[in-house]
This record gives sequence, structure tokens and C-alpha cells, in this order.
Amino acid sequence: MTDLSDNEAEVIIVGAGPVGLWLAAELRLAGVDTMVLERAAEPVPHPKALGLHARTLEQLALRGAVDAFLAGGVQVPAWHFGFLEQRLDLTRLDSPYPFLLSFPQDRTEALLQQRALDLGARIIRSQEVVGLDQDDTGVRLTTASGASLHAGWVVGADGAGSAVRRLTEIDFPGTDADVYAYLGDVHAEQPPPPGYGVQNERGALIVAPLPGGVIRVTGYDPENQEPGRREVTLTELSETATRITGADFGLHDPTWLTRFGNATRVAARYRQGRVLLAGDAAHMHFPAGGVGLNLGLQDATNLGWKLAAVAQDRAPATLLDTYGTERRPWALDVAEHTLAQTALITATTPTGQALRRLLSGLIGTLPDLSLTLARRLAGVDVRYPAAAGAHPLTGTSLTAGLELRDARPALVTAPGVQLPPPPGIRVVELPSLPGATAALIRPDGHVWWATSEQHPAAAAQQALASFNVRF
Ligand SMILES: Cc1cc2nc3c(=O)[nH]c(=O)nc-3n(C[C@H](O)[C@H](O)[C@H](O)COP(=O)(O)OP(=O)(O)OC[C@H]3O[C@@H](n4cnc5c(N)ncnc54)[C@H](O)[C@@H]3O)c2cc1C
Repeated sequence: MTDLSDNEAEVIIVGAGPVGLWLAAELRLAGVDTMVLERAAEPVPHPKALGLHARTLEQLALRGAVDAFLAGGVQVPAWHFGFLEQRLDLTRLDSPYPFLLSFPQDRTEALLQQRALDLGARIIRSQEVVGLDQDDTGVRLTTASGASLHAGWVVGADGAGSAVRRLTEIDFPGTDADVYAYLGDVHAEQPPPPGYGVQNERGALIVAPLPGGVIRVTGYDPENQEPGRREVTLTELSETATRITGADFGLHDPTWLTRFGNATRVAARYRQGRVLLAGDAAHMHFPAGGVGLNLGLQDATNLGWKLAAVAQDRAPATLLDTYGTERRPWALDVAEHTLAQTALITATTPTGQALRRLLSGLIGTLPDLSLTLARRLAGVDVRYPAAAGAHPLTGTSLTAGLELRDARPALVTAPGVQLPPPPGIRVVELPSLPGATAALIRPDGHVWWATSEQHPAAAAQQALASFNVRF
């Protein structure tokens, strides 16, 4: 970790959570001088998120960074939507990673921090950003310790309570919490079997394994809904478990006990001049389905190459507006389905229970419904807007069989299609490119342009000219 002797950077990221760290690494791949300022002296020791979904794994793989995650994680083939009894079958996902990877957030952060440091990012801890001023040339930040720092661009990756969002006066519209969940990371004398979950007229409880023999017990207890209270005691957790499931599992020695609400908000804008928001700073919601961290990492993959290009004068600043245009709708989508899941989790009335049985039955009998919901949680349905008349692949993610370790784009071709390599862009022949002969893949793995023309060289050249980003 570095000190503050050099208080200037091309980009300063506020917040060394997973999103800030992944973004720092993305920027460093392009050689951007990147500093990360973090309020906390040390990384948080307990994991919030427990899982990485398919699209996130695809993006890690695109950078050649997925192996450490796969090696240390557990592949979960079925996942829940709103704690419904009938699980979603993830094995049918159209992804090289048709599962949820159980991988605690503290370990994710450790790997991402190491990656950012290895790539040359400066990470400075114990620095809380409290002031922000921007003009046409850059942004000045001040910290609680009195330091003053300057950057061409600033990204607020400082979580749901984002100071950067507040200081730039970006609205955060949405709904306040009206449901509170309990969470305990605990040991258990009689742990329930893996995948255990209950939802009934008394509440909801789900159990997930953590490393070191710890289990996470979390859910909804209608009898403990005082707004704003953070604390949970072990006695309370045991009583809740007994009330909902009939057993207390011999819970003991908690490592983390907390409560959290379902406030659901999405920032009105992702960019204000030279300041951008990413991750929880841009969106917050109930952690149903385990998607928030994934959504944020995917923000960073979208933003990194664009911000690098703009900061290095390789693209016009308007490129940064596409970040919000592309990412904000997916945050709204997550906000919507996590609200729907909250309704299912808290459906304890006879009518609510009937709705749950009906939906659960449909998921069990309609494989396409199961797949649609699974794709939504896994993020594999994420695609970005394409111009009218564009090839159908445009905007989709196309990463299978492709590595862009240096975060530079690639022209990919169907087998046997020859293309002369344009300056600065590699040409990669894929084992298959269904429905197209050639495609230009952006550094984040999404298709910028594709064609089905038999001789695509001229069209490819035109597409590259319209890309408006130099590499
Ligand atoms: C109980 C729970 C379970 C969850 N489970 C899942 C799950 O299974 N899957 C999933 O995908 N998501 C899950 N989430 C959501 C996930 O944890 C978040 O989406 C994720 O942490 C967001 O990462 P971030 O980097 O955007 O923000 P954060 O992780 O909040 O990091 C922000 C960082 O900014 C720092 N900071 C804040 N203010 C300042 C400041 N003024 N100056 C400097 N630094 C500052 C903070 O100290 C922090 O380190 C869960 C969340 C909770 C609460």
C-alpha cells in the first residue's frame, strides 16, 4: 500500500471494495495512472456476498483471471429465486460457467486487491473522502485527514452510502426499506444439510456454507422488523431459527451478526462531468439472488476501457455517456427483480403462500421459465443497445473461447474467414461464430459490430473507423 506523497493521478477511485479494485486493475491494463482511496484501515474481515454468477466469471476469464476463483470456489448447480422451493437449474445456462460459484466476498476482494497492486495501482487506506470540487480540467478531492488530491477523473465506488454521489448531487431515487433481514455467520452443533432453506407462514430461513466450518443463516423474521436496527444477538437468531424451522441447529460462536433492509435505489445518472459512479454507489437493493457484487463488477468492466481511452485522449469524453446508457437499465432490472423476490420471501400469508406454490410449480414444470429466471440472475441476458438495423449479435456478450488479457479489442472471424489485421487490433479466428463471419469485440467482451458478409474486410474497416476509440 502506498502513501500520499504523490497526490496527483489520472484517475482516482474512491473505495477499495470489489468494484473499485477491479476497476483499478482494468485501468492499469491500459497504463492509466490510478489511485484508490479507501476509508477503512483494513479490508472487512467478513464476507457480504457469497457468490459469483456466470457473466462475472466470463468477464474474469476474458482477462485470464478466473482460475484462482474456480480453484478456490464451489460450483453450485441450482439456485433459488425468492427462496422458492423449486430451484432454478443453472446447468442449462448458455455460458461456459453454468453454475453459481460459491466464493466469499472477502476472498474476492483479496484476489482483486492483489491483481490491482500487481498491475501497479496505488491503494491508499485510512483516507475518507469528504470533499469534491470539479471543473473542466479535473477534480479535487479532500479527505478527512486534511489531504488534498487531484485527478483528471474520479470514480465513486464507495458503496451504497456514497459520499461521491452526495458531493456531486446525483439523485438516488427509489424506495426506502420496509423489510429487514437477519444474518448470522455462525458455527452449528447440528448444521442443516447443504442447500437447506425454509419459507413458511412464520418466515424464511436459508443456510449457506462458509469456509472454516461456519454457516450463514439468513432470512426474514416477521416478528423482528424494527426499522433501522443493525444488531442481532445469538439468542435472537436461535429463537428465529426455532420459530421458523422448529430447530435451532445448536448455533454458537458467531463471527458476524447483522440485519439489513431492502432499500432499493438507482442513481439518476452515472456521470456528472468528470465524476462517475460504479457498483453499490450507483445502485442498492435487497441481496436476494446474490447479484449486487456481480452487477458492480460488470459496471467496472464496462467503464474501465472507456475511462482509460478518454483519460488518455484516445476517445471523446462522450464515450463515457454510453457507460450509463448501457449499465443503468440493468441496475433497474435488478432493482425490479429483487423487489419481486422480496415479495416472495416475505409472502407469509395464506394468499402469499399460494402464490409461492403456484410459481414454484411453474418453475418445476416449465424449463424455459426456470432458464429465463436463471439467465436473469446470472446476468447472461445482459446486452447493450444496438443501432436500428445492426447485426443481431451487436451488443451481446461474445467471450467464449476468447481472451483479451490486455483489455484491447479483437476482430474475431468465423473459421476460414481471412481478415488483414488492422493497426493495433488483433484478429482471432474462433472455432465458431454462429450467424456471422466477423465481429469486432470491445474490451469488455461485448460486440461492437458484426457482419454476415462473405468477404467482410471492407465492412470491418468501416466499423473500425466508426469505433471512434484508438488503441
Ligand atoms: C448481507 C449481504 C449479502 C450479500 N450477498 C451478495 C451475494 O451473495 N452476491 C452478490 O453479488 N452481492 C451480494 N451482496 C451485495 C454486495 O456485497 C455489494 O453489492 C458489494 O459489496 C458492492 O461492492 P462495491 O465495491 O460497490 O461497494 P462496497 O463493497 O460497499 O465497497 C465500498 C468501499 O468504499 C469505502 N468507502 C465508503 N465511503 C468512503 C469514502 N468517503 N472515502 C473512501 N472510501 C470510502 C468503504 O469502506 C468500502 O470499502 C450482499 C450484500 C449484503 C449486505
